[in-house]
Amino acid sequence: MTIHTPVEANERVYPMPKVPAIAICLDGCEPEYLDKAIADGLMPTLKRMRETGTDRLAHSVIPSFTNPNNLSIATGRPPIVHGICGNYLIDPDSGEEVMMNDVRFLRAPTVFKQFYDAGAKVAIVTAKDKLRALLGAGLKFDDDRAKCFSAEKSDTSTQAEHGQEKASAWLGMAQPEVYSAELSEFVFAAGVKLLKEWKPDVMYLTTTDYVQHKYAPDQAEAKAFYEMFDKYLTELDAMGAAIVVTADHGMKPKHHADGSPSVVYVQDLVDEWLGKDAARVILPITDPYVVHHGALGSFATCYLPEDADRSDIIGKLKATAGITHVLTKEEAIKRFELPGDRIGDIVMVSGENICIGTSEDRHDLAALNEPLRSHGGLTEQEVPFIVNRVIDLGTAPELRNFDAFFYATTAAAQ
Ligand SMILES: [Zn+2]
Repeated sequence: MTIHTPVEANERVYPMPKVPAIAICLDGCEPEYLDKAIADGLMPTLKRMRETGTDRLAHSVIPSFTNPNNLSIATGRPPIVHGICGNYLIDPDSGEEVMMNDVRFLRAPTVFKQFYDAGAKVAIVTAKDKLRALLGAGLKFDDDRAKCFSAEKSDTSTQAEHGQEKASAWLGMAQPEVYSAELSEFVFAAGVKLLKEWKPDVMYLTTTDYVQHKYAPDQAEAKAFYEMFDKYLTELDAMGAAIVVTADHGMKPKHHADGSPSVVYVQDLVDEWLGKDAARVILPITDPYVVHHGALGSFATCYLPEDADRSDIIGKLKATAGITHVLTKEEAIKRFELPGDRIGDIVMVSGENICIGTSEDRHDLAALNEPLRSHGGLTEQEVPFIVNRVIDLGTAPELRNFDAFFYATTAAAQ
């Protein structure tokens, strides 16, 4: 790489890296997962990074869901800038509920596109395909300077669309089952091979939280996952890259002592207060992959009918057990930096051990095989932020997970 001009993206300036700059987003990595695995001696490289590099906690964006945080990491900015505030929204033009994983919903260029446009080589590997199009927005694959593929669809990736023909065959790893730890392992293995053979300037590796939804930090399956990650991290670190390890959100148990899910069904409540279906409760965690969380998280937004008394409903929600924060749309835009046209009249967050549902009969809880663990609220906002170099994080009041590429490129430019 001979280009040394800094790159600008969304009003932030990123230095051009001298060694590969890598950010790794460990999906659902509640900090306790790392503490437990390190305590058992299963993560020697991450332990060393913590001791000799930079070790901090950062805040994710709210809602503490996967897509808003991945796009914040990819753009370096909160959802009010990039527009992606969930998996799911009510389209203000049509009134229809639509998935937000289409590129047309993205309002800001990614850091990857800006680096690519400046002449750098960029690689993105995601576990689930739902993120691929958004993360790869604006990249071109005709000059072998960009790669963006998913583990989930690695059998069918092409040079023209993903920068990599049949990624599974290239890697020598079968396309993993979508609900598996291997889906994330594929991402790490691909990252190691790319760094070794293709040498990207900027690389983003983002996993799936299948393991974290299922297993608590002290369970063997969770520890085995982080032990596996550390082996790949060791290889990435040994090749001289500057690496930031962070997460999109944490993960908390949200079930009763008997293992049944702990849920407050808000659509049922507003139906009672305003009449059936007068208001609409939207759970932006909803996506086609509901098996591990039953579409239950700790964040919801509610659209009210025009004649509703908003402050009355807010008062009632505030008095509801399990709901910890109820904000007007205007307050939510300000406090959580959310795009106002993609949230309802009210935003609410539930507590550490309880989820928000719509109507009890609309959630398929039989699909949950383990006691529910989920995320979305303020209690899942704290995530690791670990760098394999000593970097000056300054006295910035709040470190954010979406500062990952700023500090990865800063460390890589030293
Ligand atoms: Zn996630």
